[in-house]
Amino acid sequence: MKEKVHPAYFPEAKIVCACGKTYLIGSTEKEIHVELCSNCHPFFTGKQRIVDSARRVEKFTARAGRKAAVATGRKVKVAKRAARKAEKLAKEKEESAKGGSASGGEAKAAKTESK
Ligand SMILES: [Zn+2]
Repeated sequence: MKEKVHPAYFPEAKIVCACGKTYLIGSTEKEIHVELCSNCHPFFTGKQRIVDSARRVEKFTARAGRKAAVATGRKVKVAKRAARKAEKLAKEKEESAKGGSASGGEAKAAKTESK
């Protein structure tokens, strides 16, 4: 080997994976940190796992949750409005079934007395 040309070589360099497993491999770097290795990669494990080092999944679920909350709020409002409309229609039908507008007025008066 030619002198002062090659980088320092570490015959037992430490490779540390995000899953916790370490390997000893010859390298020019003393220590290397990796996100995936043969111990945890889905190709070798057969299980799907998301390595989320940038917290992208967490951020997405938070954002999706917020959107869902807004949507349910709107849905609740619409449902309430529909229920109120149905109630009003039912009352109108009831009053029309009882008779004319005069009897309706009597019914209202009776209701106010009862309260
Ligand atoms: Zn690993």
